[in-house]
Amino acid sequence: MNTTVKNNFSSLFLSRGLNYISGDKPMLEILSHFGFKPDQDLIELGGYVSEEMIEALDVIDHYSKPVLHTWGLLGDRIDYVRISPDHERVLTKLQNLGVIRKMNGKRMSLMDHFVSGYAISDSGVFCTMTLTAQTAYILNKYGDPSLKKKYLGRFFDRNNPWYGATFYSEIQGGSDIGANTTIAEQDGDRFYLTGSDKYFASNAGIADAALVTARFRDSPKGAKGISLFLVPAYCDDGKLNYTIRRLKNKMGTTAVPTGEVEFNRSEAYLIGSMKEGIYLSMEALIISRIDDAIAAVGIARKALWEAYLFAEKREAFGKKLIDHDLMRKDFMELEIDLEAAAVLSILSAKYFDDASDSRPPYDTKYHFSRLLGNIAKSIAADTSAGITRYSMEMLGGIGFFEEFPMAKFHRDSIVTSIWEGTSNIQALETLEVLTRKEGVRMLHEHLNAAVSGFRDREFAKLFHKESGRILQKIMDMLSSGEQEYYSKEILRLLGTVIASAELELIGQDIPEGNGIMRLTSRLYFQEKLLGKSIEFDEMQKNLNIIRWMAEARGETGK
Ligand SMILES: Cc1cc2nc3c(=O)[nH]c(=O)nc-3n(C[C@H](O)[C@H](O)[C@H](O)COP(=O)(O)OP(=O)(O)OC[C@H]3O[C@@H](n4cnc5c(N)ncnc54)[C@H](O)[C@@H]3O)c2cc1C
Repeated sequence: MNTTVKNNFSSLFLSRGLNYISGDKPMLEILSHFGFKPDQDLIELGGYVSEEMIEALDVIDHYSKPVLHTWGLLGDRIDYVRISPDHERVLTKLQNLGVIRKMNGKRMSLMDHFVSGYAISDSGVFCTMTLTAQTAYILNKYGDPSLKKKYLGRFFDRNNPWYGATFYSEIQGGSDIGANTTIAEQDGDRFYLTGSDKYFASNAGIADAALVTARFRDSPKGAKGISLFLVPAYCDDGKLNYTIRRLKNKMGTTAVPTGEVEFNRSEAYLIGSMKEGIYLSMEALIISRIDDAIAAVGIARKALWEAYLFAEKREAFGKKLIDHDLMRKDFMELEIDLEAAAVLSILSAKYFDDASDSRPPYDTKYHFSRLLGNIAKSIAADTSAGITRYSMEMLGGIGFFEEFPMAKFHRDSIVTSIWEGTSNIQALETLEVLTRKEGVRMLHEHLNAAVSGFRDREFAKLFHKESGRILQKIMDMLSSGEQEYYSKEILRLLGTVIASAELELIGQDIPEGNGIMRLTSRLYFQEKLLGKSIEFDEMQKNLNIIRWMAEARGETGK
């Protein structure tokens, strides 16, 4: 006999059943511009996320967090994290859809993984995938052949895939990794780690192997003395290789356990050379920064979409919320910001993917992709926190209640500006690329190529003039002797100019009367580069920028 239990989740979550890939018109236009066509797995993922996954994560978030089990039946340390069967099913599904496995082509490419992050976006479960992608990427690129033979295939295994982690931050320094005190020792051809300060170890208790930063006793002080290791959770003889002191109690990202890890002569494998550690660990961070940017935009999309569907149903003062001019203005402005952040995020993904064959000391293309990653992460994170906060407000008082998904979207968006390097760190690294890695030259080349690709030559002249004015301002700040003080403003201005150029390139390829980005690109330019707000008539004329959110349900057949 089948028993059907009534499930009314769609009364809590209006977006249920949308497809976050095939129903998302602006994102499809962005991906098409970068030559990326979502395959069947990604489209299935887009639907899976808005049905089963979002519901399972709501349950995990509120009622079934990962739990650390420290002792076994015989009083032995076991230190593993138990997740709920729902949670396990979500991870299995994401693995089956190739979120990690598809990286593993002839040449490792992360584009599929990056785009999957837009649909998944959940800061908890996608963090588990990000950490795994980083570990597999670094092992593939820098692991010695015997290490790769032993472990790499495990991450792509169809039946029982491994999970990764990056244990860098210690209590005395997350931004300042050079302050790490975990000690590495060499004994013959083997390495061992000792230290109890890994204070923010996400995926601890789930990860099968982690990338860990540590220093040899005689290494130089600071970042230059950092080496990178692969540390399996269990030794070859099955013994626990490190212990987990406790899990953190966090305001979001619930699905990923974040713990404090202690090493006690834990077996480790050196990745690359002893002196390269800081470069390789930072290279892995670019992946998580891009993932973070894309996921931040994905969360913002879910929140704004939900708010839009609500505004179509809810009435105030005798008409639907969406028919109030001020609400339309709100939606329009947020949508434009969201699309610009999405463009920056996918642009940085594409650049990194193309530049990722580069090795230390790296070429300028790689450094420019790093700069784009810094900009995308910082802008997407701020945009996401702003959009999720205001989307909550657009639901009125009920937006604030934990029983609806908006509160979780906002909680999960906030971490995106903190982990993988705070916004100040992104700004300082942007500065470093600009001043020490030929970033200024690369930036000019990038923008010149974009402007020469503009088909509307009148607009090209105007863009050249306005972007030139902003670039001059940036140059003045760079040569002021106070670069650090201005670095955040430099990052924001750069992001605006780069996003505007890319939006124009995307928009011009869309036939007139169709699509979203053609409308967005000029409005973004007007708002951000000319500093002119959108007039009432312009808003009315360009309503398609937001209306597609209502039409998407029909298009996905739901
Ligand atoms: C949920 C969660 C999960 C995490 N998971 C992981 C993980 O798996 N692995 C891992 O290694 N880490 C992880 N982290 C750690 C995270 O990356 C760090 O917390 C973050 O990089 C900031 O480092 P910190 O906490 O030491 O803060 P600090 O470095 O002490 O920074 C404090 C403040 O000072 C500012 N600041 C620092 N230096 C400068 C400067 N030079 N100029 C201007 N401002 C500055 C920062 O912007 C920040 O506002 C996680 C963090 C969280 C919240």
